[in-house]
Amino acid sequence: MNFSWTAHRFAGGALALDVANSVVLRHDEARRADRFDVEAQLLSFPKAAAEYSAERSIFGDVVLTMPEDKQAFIALREATDRYFRSRVLSGHQGEALLADLLEAIARVLRGGSAANGVDRATAHSALRLIAAPESERMKICGNCGWLFLDRSKNRSRVWCDMTVCGNRAKASRHYRRRREEDAP
Ligand SMILES: [Zn+2]
Repeated sequence: MNFSWTAHRFAGGALALDVANSVVLRHDEARRADRFDVEAQLLSFPKAAAEYSAERSIFGDVVLTMPEDKQAFIALREATDRYFRSRVLSGHQGEALLADLLEAIARVLRGGSAANGVDRATAHSALRLIAAPESERMKICGNCGWLFLDRSKNRSRVWCDMTVCGNRAKASRHYRRRREEDAP
């Protein structure tokens, strides 16, 4: 399959969310895809993150490297998604999920990952998000299920990326309407 990390895949607005979003269509068992299952895609992620992540200015000119411990990195990704998804859906902090996320962050930081490791950068990003008032702007894309920060002035975003998910939703609405009109 032809795949490349594009700006769209970093629509989360924070590295930790972009990492969580490396699983596409999480809610859809049949269609869900884990981009990190393919080694080449995991290998090319750090460089793409340094190029496209909204937090790239924090990395400066540092070249992000592969996670030392892939398992710990994936555990961090899953804990990040569970905690923030539940927080967006329920509107409050789940303390057990928060504890899990903090543990996953600690495991990466304590694991001696490289100072410029993408796993360490992701752990710091998740930490920032936990405390940041900006997290109140976090939403779940109505099309693909990605987590994203809505930085629009009136907080009116529904899609992670209007040009991709917004258009797809519009097209499928149009398609459904056409089918209903055509139905006998
Ligand atoms: Zn989306």
